[in-house]
Amino acid sequence: MDSILNSFIDGLKNEKILYNRCNQCEKDFLPPAYHCPTCGNDKLEIKEAKKEGTIETFTVVHVAPTDFIEEAPYIVGIVQLNNNLRIMARIKTTQIENIRIGDKVKAAFDKNKQDVSILFFTF
Ligand SMILES: [Zn+2]
Repeated sequence: MDSILNSFIDGLKNEKILYNRCNQCEKDFLPPAYHCPTCGNDKLEIKEAKKEGTIETFTVVHVAPTDFIEEAPYIVGIVQLNNNLRIMARIKTTQIENIRIGDKVKAAFDKNKQDVSILFFTF
């Protein structure tokens, strides 16, 4: 597997959301990459994002892929973290009808059957 992606996945195993900061133009970005998507520089720092953010948009999934049929309906959203970083993940709540764009959420982590850490957001 790609080593840049490995660092991101290892971060998740340790319950961290890692991102890259470009040493040249100082832009932050996710997902991790070998080169800055803004200026092409390859001198990048790995940093840890705050584990809280704001719901930027979301959708309610009613027709789920096979592995998630029993969990539907559920929410998938884009959460804006610090430094304008955006990440897509599940947003878990017992009150789907009360979710609003702009709501504050916190990152949390689950393990799947293969012991892989899964990031989600919750209230
Ligand atoms: Zn850059």
